[in-house]
Amino acid sequence: MDEVWVIDDDPFAAKLTKSQFAQCLPQARVSVQTNPIESWHTLAKNRGRSVDLIVLDLRMPDMDGITYVRNLANISYPGKLIFCSGQNDRMLSAAQQIAEDQGLNILGSVQKPTRIEAVKQLLQNGRISPQRSQPEVSANDIERGIQLGEFFVEYQPKVCLHDASLRGVEVLARWKHQGRLIAPDGFIAVAEHQGLIESLTNSVIERSLAETSSWLNRHQRMQIAINLSVDALKDLALPDRLERLCKQSHIAPDNVILELTESRLIARGTPSLDILSRLHLKGFTLALDDYGAGHSTLTQLSQLPFCELKLDRSFVTGVADSASRQAIVRNSVQLAKELDMHIVAEGVESQHDWDFVAEVGCDLAQGFFIAKPMPAKAIEVWAELWQEKSGR
Ligand code: C2E
Ligand code: CA
Ligand code: CA
Repeated sequence: MDEVWVIDDDPFAAKLTKSQFAQCLPQARVSVQTNPIESWHTLAKNRGRSVDLIVLDLRMPDMDGITYVRNLANISYPGKLIFCSGQNDRMLSAAQQIAEDQGLNILGSVQKPTRIEAVKQLLQNGRISPQRSQPEVSANDIERGIQLGEFFVEYQPKVCLHDASLRGVEVLARWKHQGRLIAPDGFIAVAEHQGLIESLTNSVIERSLAETSSWLNRHQRMQIAINLSVDALKDLALPDRLERLCKQSHIAPDNVILELTESRLIARGTPSLDILSRLHLKGFTLALDDYGAGHSTLTQLSQLPFCELKLDRSFVTGVADSASRQAIVRNSVQLAKELDMHIVAEGVESQHDWDFVAEVGCDLAQGFFIAKPMPAKAIEVWAELWQEKSGR
């Protein structure tokens, strides 16, 4: 932990918090930011890369903590976050939920005035959090990994909620590095940041097309869904290259879905409509991934040539127990239908999740309840077992 920012408009409280974090993190540079807007502009310049931990107050007159969190999510702030506030527990846990839903790495909250024991505890928990156990990787590691063929892909089934039939698979990148399996969250952002995402994406595309072409040729209605980084939309040659690669593998573009993440797409301002439109015209299906976690407006959505909405799994898993998630899912289904889009529920982890998303009209489901990601070879065997189990 090198750079820690305490963002609090009250200079006295900020100083107290600073001294406690400085005591707990003697190697870190802890500084106070009493002007949230100014601090935000500084952060946004390099997408928050220069700060490792933000300790954020919630109640600030110029930019409240929740707005700050939304802004951090929009720049995909990669560091850690702690709330430090005089608000009650319910408010703090709501704020934590919001930060978590937006994909931020939230360690927890401390009540103001801060107690040093509470700070210590929080930092200790953070160290043993799952994200922490991922090894840090560098651009060099990734580059070497690509050269050595350490990257491979797995496939997660997507099934129809009406008749449980298999409709396709999502391709998910994997990396076996120094004997350890590293999840995409541990390398995609680094690859994007270091300009390596293009070669990584190419290797994922080539590999997945090669591994699935005979399966796709035998099952014409199946689709494979490939994740594209928003950075790929800078590459004007992408539509032609993808088309060529599909041709080489004898795969029709309408067997291929390209998934783009909502929050990053909208954060970019004007997404590259040019490339999106050309991909669409060539027959690729475009899907808006992690829908609901970003902030797309109806206007933005209706302008983009997307045919599929993938509902973020934070709204789907456990939906039966949460009235607010139910409202979000219902609303998203309605929106998708009105825009003539398919809607996929991701993160279906139980029969309850399945029943709810089926009842409200989602089209497809994906999640651990159906299957975890698997190697290409396993798909057909799994499909047979699934068919038997679901009685179709
Ligand atoms: P995503 O596109 O939202 O992919 C779905 C993630 O949810 C996968 O995690 C999958 O294993 C996980 N998942 C599926 N069902 C469930 C469930 O029921 N419960 C839970 N808890 N999780 C479930 P994974 O493989 O770790 O991928 C994480 C993210 O990394 C992906 O999220 C995607 O944004 C990114 N990613 C993966 N492969 C690629 C790639 O080739 N290129 C790019 N640009 N991004 C990729
Ligand atoms: Ca995806
Ligand atoms: Ca997703």
